[in-house]
Amino acid sequence: MTSELTHQGISFDDKPLGFNTLSIHLGNGVDAETGAIRRPITLANAYALPYDPSDINWSSSDVNLYTRNGHPNQRYLEAKLAKLENTEDAVVLASGVAALSGTFTTVLDRGDHAIFSDTTYIAAYRLLNQILPEKYGIETSIVDTSDPDNIAKAIRPNTRLVHVETPANPTLKVTDIEAAAHIAHDAGALLSVDNTFNSPYNVRPADLGADIVIESLTKYINGHGDALGGAIATSKEITDRIRFTYQVNYGGIISPFNAWLINRGSVTLPLRMRQHNASALAIAKHLEGLPQVRFVAYPGLESHPHHDVAARQLARPDAGFGGVLAFGLDTDHDGHNRFVSKLNVITSAVSLGHDESLIVFLGEDDERQYLYPEEFHRGFFRLAVGLEDTDDLIRDIDHALAEAGL
Ligand SMILES: *Cc1c(COP(=O)(O)O)cnc(C)c1O
Repeated sequence: MTSELTHQGISFDDKPLGFNTLSIHLGNGVDAETGAIRRPITLANAYALPYDPSDINWSSSDVNLYTRNGHPNQRYLEAKLAKLENTEDAVVLASGVAALSGTFTTVLDRGDHAIFSDTTYIAAYRLLNQILPEKYGIETSIVDTSDPDNIAKAIRPNTRLVHVETPANPTLKVTDIEAAAHIAHDAGALLSVDNTFNSPYNVRPADLGADIVIESLTKYINGHGDALGGAIATSKEITDRIRFTYQVNYGGIISPFNAWLINRGSVTLPLRMRQHNASALAIAKHLEGLPQVRFVAYPGLESHPHHDVAARQLARPDAGFGGVLAFGLDTDHDGHNRFVSKLNVITSAVSLGHDESLIVFLGEDDERQYLYPEEFHRGFFRLAVGLEDTDDLIRDIDHALAEAGL
């Protein structure tokens, strides 16, 4: 099964295979040398040259040459992710941030204009708000993309890219990908979507019109909190440019070991996502009913302002709204920290999409606070719900509230 799937495509008897089957079988294959049914990790930095190497292009990325030009473990993972995202191709790089900077530096040139969401991962904000304008002469506008009209209003004759993060980190704002794609395409611009919070199990932006899909593989796709990686799933025309320029010359290549780990972790993506989705929804509902909780932001709640859009975007009947939620307590700065100090199961650490639940207190002084909805101004938590028993997580929260005297 494995090698047929990998070599011949993704269906048999004319019926496409499901996401679970593909997550297991794609990216794997029989090792030609040993017959092992798991592909090996190829750690070599360099590959044997032909008799006459003088006409090789040292910047090429389609031959085995030097590991920064591309390597087998990277390519297995790329082929798998392109199928899971339903795009023509994918490039896998060292981190989610490498995927973001690789995208921006490839599709934007000096004098171009880009529009981006008012809530994004901090490095996307730094790149688009500061580094690319100051160092590379790229114009950018920051807008609340959860209302598509704001995107339309910000379009300029030189707009080449609309970049949205949805659900956005950490406010959980949701953008209508189809509407954003129409506006971008009418203006001759590309739409890139940071899909990290959803993963391709919950939402497939390419099916909704996005041209470029970015994932921090560090999060759900690896799922085990032990490797950084990033992917850009898009057309072959764009991946060729990213490899040729960004990967080879800026050098943000993923290590073979990390690519192997992420490939292995991604096998259980569907199972894990179903548990993250179910547990986060149960916890969001529980939090909503607690008197100590000032607000909860989770796209799966009917109280979320973009719940209908989020529900419409789901890629399959058993998809959900992801494992990340934000909430604030009706207490002061120290009350939030006291609550975290009393947690026994949930760990205080950044990141998300790990097997274990992680919480981070984001205080009142964040430089981007002015861009967040009002309820976020008094300090709040980002909770990344893990795979523990849901009851244990709810007990942990209730216990910590009591212990903290809240
Ligand atoms: C974590 C994250 C990134 C950055 O990914 P790294 O792998 O840490 O570089 C980008 N976007 C979102 C939405 C993230 O949560």
